[in-house]
Amino acid sequence: MSEIQFADLGLSESLLKAVAEQGYTIPSPVQAQAIPAVLQGRDVMAAAQTGTGKTAGFTLPILHYLDNGQRVSSNRIRALILTPTRELAAQIDENIKAYGKYLPLRSAVVFGGVKINPQMIALRRGVDILVACPGRLLDLYQQNAVRFDEVEFLVLDEADRMLDMGFINDIKKILAKLPAKRQNLMFSATFSQDIRTLAKGLVNDPIEIDVSPRNSTAHTVEQWLVPLDKGSKAKALIELVSAGNWHQVLVFTRTKHGANRLTKQLEEAGIKAAAIHGNKSQGARTRALAEFKSNDIRVLVATDIAARGLDIDQLPHVVNYELPNVAADYVHRIGRTGRAGASGEALSLVCAEELEDLEGIEGLIGRTLERRELEGFAPQVSLPLSRPKAPRKPKKPKQSFGSSSAQGERSNSAPGNNSAPKKPANGKSANRSGQSASKDGAAPSRPRRSQRGPRSSSVS
Ligand code: AMP
Repeated sequence: MSEIQFADLGLSESLLKAVAEQGYTIPSPVQAQAIPAVLQGRDVMAAAQTGTGKTAGFTLPILHYLDNGQRVSSNRIRALILTPTRELAAQIDENIKAYGKYLPLRSAVVFGGVKINPQMIALRRGVDILVACPGRLLDLYQQNAVRFDEVEFLVLDEADRMLDMGFINDIKKILAKLPAKRQNLMFSATFSQDIRTLAKGLVNDPIEIDVSPRNSTAHTVEQWLVPLDKGSKAKALIELVSAGNWHQVLVFTRTKHGANRLTKQLEEAGIKAAAIHGNKSQGARTRALAEFKSNDIRVLVATDIAARGLDIDQLPHVVNYELPNVAADYVHRIGRTGRAGASGEALSLVCAEELEDLEGIEGLIGRTLERRELEGFAPQVSLPLSRPKAPRKPKKPKQSFGSSSAQGERSNSAPGNNSAPKKPANGKSANRSGQSASKDGAAPSRPRRSQRGPRSSSVS
């Protein structure tokens, strides 16, 4: 955490009050760097994964800015936040509502899998900040429920995941409809070549922020693996959860079917569990997450995409029931625990067939995972010693979904070769003069958009 205080960042009193009510005392590093940069009107490109506080890093300065501008017209929006999953979209909107509770601004969230009509009605009066998944947003646009001519901010959140999920064409379509003059903020856990290409056509002279050193995993997360046979994984997991008296265990499987099957096995063993994946209705997903957070269920079994963006404070246990075959996903999974300095453990159940995936992961994170045999589960087919591999070359993003069905699940197709943006910006110097809140809490003035440089609006 940084030495800087929230009050040093130039945010209005109303926002500071709301932030204090959230219990945040000091800004996280990404907040300390991104907030002043956004308030200065700069584009931002940040390597930051979920758990770093990035959401407040972009929503707070946007709220601050919008509070000083003109009222939004009907069916218009002033800030657009694009996210890959429904869960993440809903969480961002919740955050916006919490941070903006003392401001007269409206926000809304739109994603597929639920009725479109209430979303159309919400947009009618105009919305200051819209959080959207790309497919549903395009549907709404095509039905004239939303116009983009008043858009001043674009945020691309979890850009790497958007590309993994095949949203590139939808994103391009949306970008082509936005006004050229706007401020662009791009957040991504990893920076592959594809992300950099996307960024080139999107951000203009950005401040680059890097709070997640290249593919590193948090130091506070204890990582280890259990070598075992494929067929004994379910029993081993039941043993670990029961004997260790674990609560709040997030388990990753590769497939939706595998998630369902494992959930059933856990339930049969008397361990309350639920699955969360793309075939589940939005209601079921929200309910499972709420029950998990409230400790009504002990184990949440998730596929990678469904789990992306899950915000669960201080999650103590993450289990890779199967290793992801895209090494970068291991880093995302592990990022679910050990957040904000809390300790956590991440263990992987690994069978001999997964050796190649293991080597890819170890190559990416630059370390060999400690092996701990579980009594009674020594494998018949032993897991050979691994020789960590250099990260794989990124794959081309898959084709776009194109419509409201776009929020569905995709199999792993993430790029694995990542390079983080260059040097972090210095957050301390970013608090320019004239940026601090005035005594009555009124927000500081800011350059008018017309005085700023043009923003590019399309992806090359
Ligand atoms: P995010 O990376 O935006 O998903 O945020 C991860 C978690 O950190 C959320 O639960 C936030 O409420 C929390 N958080 C964000 N900023 C701070 C802060 N400055 N201090 C403490 N917690 C924070």
